Amino acid sequence: MTGTINKVLLVEDNPGDALLLREALADLAGSLSFDLVHVGRLEAALQRIGQETFDAILLDLSLPDAQGVDTVVRMQEAAPRLPIVVLTGLDNDAAALEAMRAGAQDYLVKGQIDGRLLVRAVSYAVERKRTQEEIEQHLSRIIALKDINGALTATLELPAVLKILLEKVGSLMPELCATVKLWDQERSNLDPVACRNLDENEWKAVAADREFEREFIDKVFLSKTSLVVNDVQNDNRVRDHDFYRRHDLNAYLGIPLLVDDQVLGVLSFYAKEEREFTGEKTEFLSALASQASVAIGNSIVHGQVKQLASHLERSNRVKEEFLGVISHELRTPLNVVKGYIELFQNRFFGELTGEQERAFEKIAVQTKNQLAMINSILHAITIESDVAAVHNDEVSLRDFLDGLQETYLPSPDRKLTFEWRYRPELPVVKTDKTKLRYIFYNLINNAVKFTPEGQVSVSAAVLDSSRVTSNDRASEEERIWLQFEVSDTGIGISHEFLPLIFEKFSQVDSSTTRVHGGIGLGLHIVKRCIELLQGTIHVESEPGKGSTFFVRIPCEIWHDTECRETASAATTITF
Ligand code: ADP
Repeated sequence: MTGTINKVLLVEDNPGDALLLREALADLAGSLSFDLVHVGRLEAALQRIGQETFDAILLDLSLPDAQGVDTVVRMQEAAPRLPIVVLTGLDNDAAALEAMRAGAQDYLVKGQIDGRLLVRAVSYAVERKRTQEEIEQHLSRIIALKDINGALTATLELPAVLKILLEKVGSLMPELCATVKLWDQERSNLDPVACRNLDENEWKAVAADREFEREFIDKVFLSKTSLVVNDVQNDNRVRDHDFYRRHDLNAYLGIPLLVDDQVLGVLSFYAKEEREFTGEKTEFLSALASQASVAIGNSIVHGQVKQLASHLERSNRVKEEFLGVISHELRTPLNVVKGYIELFQNRFFGELTGEQERAFEKIAVQTKNQLAMINSILHAITIESDVAAVHNDEVSLRDFLDGLQETYLPSPDRKLTFEWRYRPELPVVKTDKTKLRYIFYNLINNAVKFTPEGQVSVSAAVLDSSRVTSNDRASEEERIWLQFEVSDTGIGISHEFLPLIFEKFSQVDSSTTRVHGGIGLGLHIVKRCIELLQGTIHVESEPGKGSTFFVRIPCEIWHDTECRETASAATTITF
């Protein structure tokens, strides 16, 4: 029953009580008994535990140099890992319970102790202390893992993640050396990236050699499982013992850094003092490694995304600069061509035959289309570079829509009709007229372009105040929301393409054989214009049935007292 209990320290000032205990033990068979070392004072006991190893303490609560619970507290401070069984007098249960609350594992009442009871109490005390320590250790490891997790996920930068990881290992297990090797996809190599408790330059120099630690680390990496090698200095798998011997490294534990079954690298630990890694330590370090894997995985992805973003930004800039230059260079000769066509059409170079006239008309249309495309590119670049200022013009919505209506007349040959729905009493508002015009032209032109026959409808209305959603109630009275709809009964847009429709250069049909002109920039610019006006746009469409674009724009009512000079005459963008 005593298991590994060999020696117990009895702290008792009464020689008679001490003798009784000795006699009780003497009655037992040898295998059940243990050695009893007796001292009469607490000071003497504290001295003995500093010099010898005991399995437990039998502690009287009434000593010449310590009384009651204080005795337990002082003993615990001196020997926190030793189980204590207190000895109390009759009718002193209260003191015994207080002692247990202070950390004693059990108590015995003097005068009622026989050998078996004594051995059983000491054995239970030892067992209880061991369990208690295990629970405390588990708890502290759970807390440590939680702390580590918090610290590791607080950053996405790889060097910071590795630094935190190694620091935490150091604070929990200062005796361990640790190294991190990460897989470099491009070079197909496990790179030595960080270490602890070793000279980093020396380790990196040695570890850069593919042969070094190959027998361990490659195995962990390829098998995706942990590996424990005890007594590395004498292990016959090791090709070069020198490094381990020089640094006095005794046991090795390698853990793969795994994310979704993909090995990011290997986290290795070396024990200097102990010759082996216990199961418990291995388990804890494996839990730590799996947390570290997630953090390292995240920071690797973060690094890749950052790199990609900077590549994209660079190539975007180059593309925009290129487009800007090209657009300018293309526009100039086209304007010259346009000028010459007009001269021909105005008979400056003499009369034209009917055939020539039709040919010039075609050239004029194509030139106009090409100029429009180049202008779209220029607008997109201008808007993208955020120099597009927003102006507050006085816009009579009714006049604005009447003007639009005059531009779009039904064309008998295309069998296309227009429907305009707005009330004449629409207000005069403050908004950017040029952008508004651009938005409408684009949406209506698209509707016309993608509706070979059918109807294009344009509607405008002021949303009732009850439908206005604004967090800023103070400005709600001044602000209204305009809602516009441009719908058609044309070819519609497929559901897969709908989310892409506002992206630059996106077209449902981008083939070279497509029937419709355009370069896929119009809607992108429309969206940017609406965003600059702090509005929203969305589209609903059914292939074969048609599309409707819904636009909402907030604006203020124009009061007659407004200073007209605030209405800008010039705009940054010319559409
Ligand atoms: P594009 O200059 O090609 O017309 P846009 O950005 O204006 O560029 O439009 C992008 C694409 O969205 C068009 O190529 C077309 O595929 C689709 N689209 C836009 N408006 C409509 C519409 N009213 N009906 C059908 N498809 C449309």
